[in-house]
Amino acid sequence: MDKTLQEIDHEYVANTYGRFPVEIVSGKGAIARDEAGKEYIDMGAGIGVTSFGYCDDVWKAAVIDQLGKVQHTSNLYYTEPCALLAQKLCRKTGLKKVFFGNSGAEANECAIKVARKYAAEKKGPDHYTILTLWNSFHGRTLTTLAATGQDHYHELFQPLTPGFHMVHAGDFEEFRKACEELKAAGILMECIQGEGGVCDVPADYIKAVAAYCKEHDIVLMIDEVQTGNGRTGKLYAYMHYGIEPDVVSTAKGIGGGLPLGACLMGEKVQHVLGAGDHGSTFGGNPIACAGAISILDRLDDKFLAEVEAKGAKARAAFTGAEGIEDVSGKGLMFGLKTAKPAGDVVKACIGKGVLCLTAKDRVRLLPPLNIPEEVLMKAVAIIKEACAE
Ligand SMILES: *Cc1c(COP(=O)(O)O)cnc(C)c1O
Repeated sequence: MDKTLQEIDHEYVANTYGRFPVEIVSGKGAIARDEAGKEYIDMGAGIGVTSFGYCDDVWKAAVIDQLGKVQHTSNLYYTEPCALLAQKLCRKTGLKKVFFGNSGAEANECAIKVARKYAAEKKGPDHYTILTLWNSFHGRTLTTLAATGQDHYHELFQPLTPGFHMVHAGDFEEFRKACEELKAAGILMECIQGEGGVCDVPADYIKAVAAYCKEHDIVLMIDEVQTGNGRTGKLYAYMHYGIEPDVVSTAKGIGGGLPLGACLMGEKVQHVLGAGDHGSTFGGNPIACAGAISILDRLDDKFLAEVEAKGAKARAAFTGAEGIEDVSGKGLMFGLKTAKPAGDVVKACIGKGVLCLTAKDRVRLLPPLNIPEEVLMKAVAIIKEACAE
C-alpha cells in the first residue's frame, strides 16, 4: 500500500517539528484548506508570516511580475526591489540603512555583529557583551541561541557563542549594573516576547533602558521579528513606546510568506558595516523584496488603525470569558492564558475548523492582518467555546 503523505514526512523529514495531523493544500486570505477540502480559519498565519493571508492578489501579482524578470542575482549587482524596499523601510522608520538576510535569526546575527563592531571600535575590544532578557527568543543559530534567554533551548548544544548575559525584564537596576560591570556593547530585546508566551515587557522598563542606552552609548537593538510589520497595530512595536532604537531586526511578516529578514541600522551605527564585513548569498532576493514592498505599501495609518481596532474588539471578547484567565499582547498578537492546557485548546480548535498556535503555556494567535472582522470574530467565538468546554 502506498504511504500517506504524513508517513513519508515522518520517514524522511528531520524530526524537529511536532506537526498537527493537518495537510494544508491551498488557501485564500484567512482560510486554509486541507487535502479533504475541510476549511480552517487560520489564526496563526504561518507564525505571523502571511501578513495578508494565503495567495493575496496584490502580493501575488508583485511576486509573479518579478518572477518574470529576475529571480536572483548575486549581491555584486543592483536590483530594483532590494533598493526600493530598503528606501521604504528607512523612510517609514527614520533608520538609515538595511542589511537583508533570509530569516529572523540572520537579522539578529547582523544586529549582534553591528553592536560588537561598533563597541569594539568606539570603546575597545573588551566591550563585547550583549545583554538579552530572560524568556526571550532570538533564533536557532548557535549565536542567536546564546542570545535566547530560555535554558531548555541550550541543553546539549554547548558551547554556545560566548559574550551574552541575560537580565530580567522589568528590573532596571539589574540592567544598569550589568551594563557597568560587563562593559555591555548593547542590549537585544523584544517589546513583546512572542515565543516566550506573548509576554508584554513593561513599558516603563523599555523606556528606561532606551534612555540609558542613549546616555551611555550602548547599542539598543529591538527584535521585531514577530512584533514587526504591523502586527501590534504600529508598523513596529517599539513605536508604541516613543523610543529610538539603534538597530531593528525583523523577518516573519515582512515578506508576506517568502523568506526575508532585515536588519535596520540607525544613525549611530549606520557606517559600522563596511564592504566584506557581512553578506548573504540569498539576502535581498528580488522576488522576496518585491513581495515585501507590496506588503509594506499597504501598512499605512488607516490599515494599522484597523489592526488596532480589530485587535481591541477580539481582546474585549476574550477578556473575562469562561476558561480564559488572561489576555496578553497588542494589536493582532494575542496570548491567552487558558484554564485548560493550551495544547488541548489548539486540538479542540482544529476539530472546529480554527488553526491556533501556542507559546509556552499560552494559546497564541497571530491572524493575517487583513482578516475581515466577521471572520476574526467567528474564530474568536470558536476559540472561546473550546476554552470553556
Ligand atoms: C521567530 C523569531 C526569531 C527567529 O526567526 P527565524 O526566521 O525562525 O530565524 C527571532 N526572534 C523572534 C522574536 C522570533 O519570533
